[in-house]
Amino acid sequence: MRIGALEAGGTKMVCAIGDEKGKISEQVSIPTQTPESTMPQLIDYFRQREIEALGIGCFGPICPDKEAEMYGYITSTPKKAWRNYNIVGAFEEALGCPVGFDTDVNGSVLGEVTFGCARGLDNVLYLTVGTGIGAGIWSQGKLLHGNLHPEAGHIFLQRHSADNYAGNCPYHGDCFEGLAAGPAIEKRYGAKAYELADREEVWDLEAYYIAQALCNYILILAPQKIILGGGVMHQTQLFDRIRKQVFERMAGYLDTAQMRDLEHYIVPASLQDNQGIMGCLELGRRAIHGLV
Ligand code: ADP
Ligand code: ZN
Repeated sequence: MRIGALEAGGTKMVCAIGDEKGKISEQVSIPTQTPESTMPQLIDYFRQREIEALGIGCFGPICPDKEAEMYGYITSTPKKAWRNYNIVGAFEEALGCPVGFDTDVNGSVLGEVTFGCARGLDNVLYLTVGTGIGAGIWSQGKLLHGNLHPEAGHIFLQRHSADNYAGNCPYHGDCFEGLAAGPAIEKRYGAKAYELADREEVWDLEAYYIAQALCNYILILAPQKIILGGGVMHQTQLFDRIRKQVFERMAGYLDTAQMRDLEHYIVPASLQDNQGIMGCLELGRRAIHGLV
């Protein structure tokens, strides 16, 4: 099966060709500009490669509800050129093949559930901490959409008493993303995040916010595994700090096997940063079979 995969991001569009086993045969990256300039390049790429289906994991917010009038649109995104843009419609018309569509983070959780460290599990949370923060949620064996799709990066957390940074979410100021995404770290300390690698207090504070969010997700969604990806998680020193703070905050309340083995519960992404694009292959495969 020859499947096209598109990981549509705010800064770049990753296009790949692969198969239903998650094997990627080629991949390119195209800068995200406007639909007028970027879409023709993407369409050309996939058209030349004669794909049977396309799977798109897209920056959001989007409308993934097949019954809704706005299905297939990128909706209220701050990226104005893409606001209310019917990306699925454009590809369906140009390529004439089935198109699967979901959020970028749902793509990533699907990649891990289908091909990675979460195979066989029914309840999994994938959190990306990068330019923004978002969660893909696999719940009871399905991608969770709810009323739209989860926007779990914009939850409200208890601030650390020593943190004076105002937060930089354009909507909420100091929501989780506003306090803990890569740009927040860089503005708070006035340096690139990777340059702060040796500053313990930076990663303790970052772990403080991530652990708090994870406790909330654990209490609400009861995931069997939590996978952390995105550029900020390249600071692998965060993992043990997060596990420790999750353990302390939960204070023994949940006596589950997972809480007793946090090293295997809160884990890094397992597919060499290909979890998103591999998930898009699976979105494409599912589109052929009419699976949501
Ligand atoms: P995006 O979210 O745009 O898809 P990334 O997941 O790579 O991209 O996230 C980019 C962010 O990750 C940047 O804001 C940067 O602060 C942070 N970042 C990238 N590499 C590192 C690193 N090695 N250590 C800490 N932070 C990093
Ligand atoms: Zn926010």
